Amino acid sequence: MRNLLTIEELNLGIKNFDRSVLARAISIVESKNQDHKKLAQSLIATIMPLTGKSKRIGISGTPGVGKSTFLENFGMYLIAKGFKIAVLAIDPTSQRTGGSILGDKTRMSELSSHTNAFVRPSPNGPTLGGIAAKTREAMLLCEAFGYEYIFVETVGVGQSEISVSHLVDFFVLLMQPGSGDELQGIKRGILEVSNLVLVNKSDGDFEKVSKIAQHDYQSSINVLQSNSTWETKVLRCSSLNRIGFDEIFENFNKYFSIYDYKERDEQLVFWLKELLKEKFEDRLKKIDLSKQLEEVISGKKNILKLVDEIFTEAQK
Ligand code: GDP
Repeated sequence: MRNLLTIEELNLGIKNFDRSVLARAISIVESKNQDHKKLAQSLIATIMPLTGKSKRIGISGTPGVGKSTFLENFGMYLIAKGFKIAVLAIDPTSQRTGGSILGDKTRMSELSSHTNAFVRPSPNGPTLGGIAAKTREAMLLCEAFGYEYIFVETVGVGQSEISVSHLVDFFVLLMQPGSGDELQGIKRGILEVSNLVLVNKSDGDFEKVSKIAQHDYQSSINVLQSNSTWETKVLRCSSLNRIGFDEIFENFNKYFSIYDYKERDEQLVFWLKELLKEKFEDRLKKIDLSKQLEEVISGKKNILKLVDEIFTEAQK
């Protein structure tokens, strides 16, 4: 990493809206180095009073559905309206395979090079909770730098979107047009947490079939979210041709005009529990349980007593 960042440099960077300072601050937050961790904590403490004002939006969908095309073009649409946009990625596949579905640097080239946008690939980390915690801090830094819309992008391949839904205020799912069969491929849990579903690629040959998809997905959402106070809409768009964006923007505004920001406090409780669980599991992996387990199996030791012992051991 290049030279570390002082609090003064951070404050100056915020004042001058210097994206390179933001990038350096995020690198410190993402660093595994113990000294950097301490610095990261004081950087975050410094910027906390400046956070909380952005709209936090999650974007998910299977690879190829058009997430980066949507973010590139919808991002430019918001910039044209005078907003500053940040895009952060969470890619659970990068931790397993070493490669990444979202990491390609050429994605969103127009948006990335715009002065009012900031695009950052996914941090690495051993656990999804750890990655999400770093993304959360990157999000807070972006807020301090004055980004009004923060998109957290994730691949629709697993648990990550449920985690992301606890990081953001509004969750958008991108779908492919089709007969409705694709719904089976998308996990029910994702549909349950979505606040807006977009049938992307609603153009050219896909237009007719996307209308059918819109109808099918809307029926499914209505059933799955029958208890929800927010009416989750299924809208069609063409990210490539920038069609349908006004309606999407209106939907965002409607949601945020009634959004209860207290939900963010509940999200903090979720992350606290999640990170504690992960930390404990991590410690547990380092304890050799085989001998104690034998004693429990042979009846020499009570299982509850063993739990107490392990708990004490894990705290060391
Ligand atoms: P991601 O993997 O979800 O980020 O998907 P990409 O944004 O990389 O898009 C995958 C492919 O779909 C690319 O070839 C895009 O050009 C294409 N694509 C994305 N959005 C649209 C759209 O609205 N209409 C059409 N026809 N193609 C699109």
